[in-house]
Amino acid sequence: MNIIIFGPPGAGKGTQSKFIVNKFDLYQLSTGDLLRNEIKNKTQLGSEISSIINSGELVSDKIVGNLIEKFVSNEAYKHKIIFDGYPRTLIQAKNLDDLLKKYKQKIDIVLKLSVSLETVKKRIFERQAQEKRADDNEEIAIKRYKTYEKSSEPLIDYYKQSNLLKVVNGEAGITEINSEISRLIDTIKG
Ligand code: ADP
Repeated sequence: MNIIIFGPPGAGKGTQSKFIVNKFDLYQLSTGDLLRNEIKNKTQLGSEISSIINSGELVSDKIVGNLIEKFVSNEAYKHKIIFDGYPRTLIQAKNLDDLLKKYKQKIDIVLKLSVSLETVKKRIFERQAQEKRADDNEEIAIKRYKTYEKSSEPLIDYYKQSNLLKVVNGEAGITEINSEISRLIDTIKG
């Protein structure tokens, strides 16, 4: 089973991904983590993308596309991926469909975590104290939310049309969300 977890910054995608990975024996593919690793390891790519990420914009579809192909093409992860933070644009969604087709796979469910801008601001403020991410401050958080509304929200209709979309209330408590997600995944597992 391949899963997409989708939602604005601070929606809890990372937290819920880790829960799903453990419970259903999957691999988390977080494009945000992969990109931050490039910056941390001071690679050529890292130096190209750091200012983009720190301004709350999206890295190019091509760069993230290359990063995810390494995962999707790996037999060890076949039908076992949770896509966390990918796709974020319609082009990325179409690229992902093509890529999965190429490797004879598909998406089984898209979980959308819904949260308000107020909650996003509050959570990012709290996370800033713990993780010290360069893009976690109020101004950039608002920018990332706006980027999400503009570039990523069109994906909601895209996945509604293919009947894959399930909306989860991201304002609920972590364990409540865990249960709701487990229930949804169990229904598609049959
Ligand atoms: P959040 O969802 O909290 O904003 P992420 O860790 O998922 O955090 O992403 C952090 C940043 O990394 C994004 O704001 C963006 O600049 C970049 N990024 C992550 N995934 C993608 C993607 N699929 N396409 C383009 N840029 C991405």
